[in-house]
Amino acid sequence: MQDERDLRRRLEKIDGRGYKAYRDIEGRYSVGPFTLYVDHVQSDPFAPPSRMRVRLPQQTAGMPEDLYRGPHRRRALEDFLTRRFAEAAGRYAGRQRGTGKSGMVAIDAPGQEVLERTSMVICGDWVEARFVVGLPAGGRKVMGRKAFRILADEIPQVVEHSLMYESLDPREAARHVEAVEDQAHLRSRLPELGLVAFVADGSVLPRRSGVSDLPMDSEEAVPFQSPPELRTTVEVPNAGSVSGMGLPEGVTLIVGGGYHGKSTLLRAIERGVYDHVPGDGRECVVTLGDACKVRAEDGRSVREADIHHFIGDLPGGQDTSRFSTDNASGSTSQAANIVEALESGSRLLLLDEDTSATNFMIRDARMQTLVAEEHEPITPLIDRVRELHDALGVSTVLVLGGSGDYIDVADQVLMMREYRLLEVTERAREVAAEFESRRRFESRTSLSPAARRAPQPGSFRLRGRRDKVRPKGLSLILYRRTPIDLSLVEQLVSPSQTRAIARIMVYMSKRYLDGTATLSEAVDRVMDDIAGSGLDAVSPFGGHPGELALPRKQEICAAANRFRQLSARQRR
Ligand code: ADP
Ligand code: MG
Repeated sequence: MQDERDLRRRLEKIDGRGYKAYRDIEGRYSVGPFTLYVDHVQSDPFAPPSRMRVRLPQQTAGMPEDLYRGPHRRRALEDFLTRRFAEAAGRYAGRQRGTGKSGMVAIDAPGQEVLERTSMVICGDWVEARFVVGLPAGGRKVMGRKAFRILADEIPQVVEHSLMYESLDPREAARHVEAVEDQAHLRSRLPELGLVAFVADGSVLPRRSGVSDLPMDSEEAVPFQSPPELRTTVEVPNAGSVSGMGLPEGVTLIVGGGYHGKSTLLRAIERGVYDHVPGDGRECVVTLGDACKVRAEDGRSVREADIHHFIGDLPGGQDTSRFSTDNASGSTSQAANIVEALESGSRLLLLDEDTSATNFMIRDARMQTLVAEEHEPITPLIDRVRELHDALGVSTVLVLGGSGDYIDVADQVLMMREYRLLEVTERAREVAAEFESRRRFESRTSLSPAARRAPQPGSFRLRGRRDKVRPKGLSLILYRRTPIDLSLVEQLVSPSQTRAIARIMVYMSKRYLDGTATLSEAVDRVMDDIAGSGLDAVSPFGGHPGELALPRKQEICAAANRFRQLSARQRR
């Protein structure tokens, strides 16, 4: 292997030459206690920065094995080190400047969730960080000496302050790992406890602002307090016993006046499918991992979805058991979102009236009288939500302020009043008995499991080198040239997940979409591969993916389902 002196020699040799000469330093070098891999050099100072890795032997890193034993602890410690690396890069690197991205040293920094990521790999033998470096340029010329300072001086300092256990705060590391393990444990126990979600007492649910995922300041936020009727205590491996609200399976309404905190509670439950960092406020809010937020999404495309249990004969005679459109309405998009959530194996649906189509949610007695049933294609959710649970075992949590008719079909009713949650089921039943709704039950078919669709392999195939897949930020993927809009897929939380979804779609279409496998089966196979060999499995770059985070099956399916060129066949 080359060493530091070889690196210096090469950099001095190309100093002042055209930027492309940096290609000469690709390779690996032993630098101090670690190995530096220069995997891919950027083509010019403004291009995406160069991809590098450092691999530090455990003898030097000294991570206690206990902190990365088992998948949850390992994911947590990898996440912790990624955060420390990002911090250290801000402090000890980035001093060298020049044109474009010159001098930047960056790692794919996580948000409030602790996701499985490719930015850091810990095993018994070493710790490996994957990051990017803007190789410095004066104009478009190589600055070899500056580059050497970044690689042989700044990066070693970053490594020393983030990948060596002795430079970390051991209590903070333990707290991070233990909090994640507790959340994963709590989530895995929900089914045996008959719960769909758990919200610990003292949790801080509101966020700092509409554009910040950080917790609201503690002076302003009213901490969560469980209603005594739903209070449960659960044992977790590290924190001992945690008390809070256990949300039972079935149909749950969250009612209350406007601005009293209903949507905030629901959003915390939506995000409870992920683990959160200590201090987030939601680190003991956990939800079934396959829970799906279901909303109206006018304008989305729908392909071959069987929505006939919700939408019957449409004007023009379209067959809604095989429904396709380039421009769904509020109600048809919400019906498709439910059906697709069921197809992807979701056992919990989360709905907020703020983002639902009114006519999909309810038709009251007066409307039933005015518009005869045979002229209304929609079977509203109120006439399906019981069946969803009783026949298919799928629970629903609904945030409602406007429609009291739902009391008739609910198992429990909770009320938000000034950010405090009350159990009001009995009171709600009294009200329902006193004021009858007079609406008629409208469903004409009985609910059956969703049809299963097999995407045709051609729909995702890349033809030649000109067909590219470009993820753009959190909510857009350009697949070939067709945009896939994910902006209303609300449980997608990180652009790194979006990048992974883009890779997974390509990977899945090559390996598993044979025209017979359903979307759900194909995604399951991809997830198995990832469970076996890590997210690296779906990366197109052998050595350095570095910027991917694990999405859920639900969001992968959501992306495939929103692809306007998807062609699919139903398999009964
Ligand atoms: P609703 O859906 O009932 O209309 P929201 O959940 O949108 O209400 O909340 C309204 C406002 O109250 C938001 O600005 C939110 O940040 C704030 N809020 C919600 N819960 C709390 C809380 N527990 N403590 C303090 N502020 C809160
Ligand atoms: Mg609301």
